[in-house]
Amino acid sequence: MLGLMQSQPLLISSLIHFAERHHGDAEIVSRRVEGDLHRYTWRDVAARSRQVANTLDSLKLGFGDRVATLAWNGYRHLELYFGVSGSGRVLHTINPRLHPDQIVWIANHAEDQVLFFDMSFLPIVQAVHARCTTVKHWVALCDADKLPADSGIPNLLSYEALLGQQPTGYAWPSFDENCASSMCYTSGTTGNPKAALYSHRSTILHAYAAALPDVMCLSARDAILPVVPMFHVNAWGIPYSAALTGAKLVFPGPALDGKSVYELIEAEKVSYAAGVPTVWQMLLGHMKPNNLRFSTLKRTVIGGSACPPAMITAFNDDYGVEVLHAWGMTEMSPLGTLCTLKNKHLSLSDADKMKIRLKQGRAIYGVDMKIVGDDGTELPWDGKAFGDLYVKGPWIVREYFKGEGGDPLKDGWFPTGDVATIDPDGYMQITDRSKDVIKSGGEWISSIDIENIAVAHPAVAMAACVGMPHPKWDERPIVAVVKKPGAEVTREELLEFYKGKAVAKWQVPDDVVFVEAIPLGATGKMLKTRLREMLKDYKLPGL
Ligand code: AMP
Repeated sequence: MLGLMQSQPLLISSLIHFAERHHGDAEIVSRRVEGDLHRYTWRDVAARSRQVANTLDSLKLGFGDRVATLAWNGYRHLELYFGVSGSGRVLHTINPRLHPDQIVWIANHAEDQVLFFDMSFLPIVQAVHARCTTVKHWVALCDADKLPADSGIPNLLSYEALLGQQPTGYAWPSFDENCASSMCYTSGTTGNPKAALYSHRSTILHAYAAALPDVMCLSARDAILPVVPMFHVNAWGIPYSAALTGAKLVFPGPALDGKSVYELIEAEKVSYAAGVPTVWQMLLGHMKPNNLRFSTLKRTVIGGSACPPAMITAFNDDYGVEVLHAWGMTEMSPLGTLCTLKNKHLSLSDADKMKIRLKQGRAIYGVDMKIVGDDGTELPWDGKAFGDLYVKGPWIVREYFKGEGGDPLKDGWFPTGDVATIDPDGYMQITDRSKDVIKSGGEWISSIDIENIAVAHPAVAMAACVGMPHPKWDERPIVAVVKKPGAEVTREELLEFYKGKAVAKWQVPDDVVFVEAIPLGATGKMLKTRLREMLKDYKLPGL
């Protein structure tokens, strides 16, 4: 027997519609590229996102067409979140920190039709526009009078001029909630980057779940500062959950240094912040020597990389801020687990509570997880056995955009590439990574890209790139190199060799270590775990 409840597709447009009607006066504050603070309300976001939708119609974009952004966290980016997806197009947020060649590759792969960009990324657009073969319109997120006269970009449009021509009325279309809403590329462990293609349904379910008290715990009483970029898995879904709850949003724009972030937190009475450990490292690094305190910040969600114990202690003991340790992936929209205590833990000593807080946390309803041994059997939840972590659920990828990389699932489960334990209370803890990538400052570096460049040098026989612990960036890449017999190359020459190659500056290894041999497995695969063991006493230059 079917239930007799109303059936209504879960669409992103319903979030902005709700935000406008129920908490239209809640504020959105943005530090702009121009340096000043911009403030308006959810009601304004709603009106302007309808103007975005009208603009896309006027540019003749079809249903499902991809619309790209190269933008910081700010109000115009927020309008695009709702205007693009709400009108049935797919928002493709591009990471501006990638090398221009990587940006060209993913824009062409996504077949982006329009690209909206912050003026600080004009040099990137100038470097890539001629090679982005599908992009028909380049739109600068600025007023008409701020458009550069001689940008070299044909038909460069101004966002404000485009919106100004459009009415604020728009009837959001209704369609299947399983249609794509946004996409985000993640650097592949093998081959090219692959995109997770989120749907309206997956986004809304994730937005509901993210707001729960034992997840991110977001409410209408919060003023949220998402430092996590809007180009990185939709800023962890915060813009959607904030529309749903009626929270105030505070966007940092390009100013992510400790001083700017601190001043914004204080000025806008931020109660809640979200970001990767590197950002908080910079914030705490500014606060301690200047003897600063928070007057409003209560909670911060930290994820993307393991949160160092000292950071949890510093926030908690020195500043009275609760740290919510989170784990997730681009392929998971991104939230998988959050670390919050259970009722029975409240009476534990601080030291015992800390042991729990260091874990990546418990699965959110909607995410199922398991750990699996080398032989494919599921391992016990005893907090000791570690194995490959698999997940499944309605906001986890089934396959990548355009079927890249084939079927990623194993018996319906997605392999995360993380290695973990799970304790009897369901707390997951990451112990290692089986995927061959390095995460520095919250962003991926493909070890394969680094190795391919090294082996292109005539004196290099073999190269293996591994991440080494770094107090600020979490990890930095180094490359271990075996020289060809009789050939000579110095560390400096090899580092120089990376210049002008298709990797961004911050992805270039910090060091080259010459070794006699790189440990290989039975199938000839480089054994990075063994190599890391060989280099256990190694220290990055300058540390
Ligand atoms: P991304 O797709 O860029 O969000 O990266 C996802 C990956 O980042 C995960 O598979 C982990 O390897 C790593 N990661 C994310 N959060 C954490 C965390 N809290 N602790 C350790 N690693 C993490």
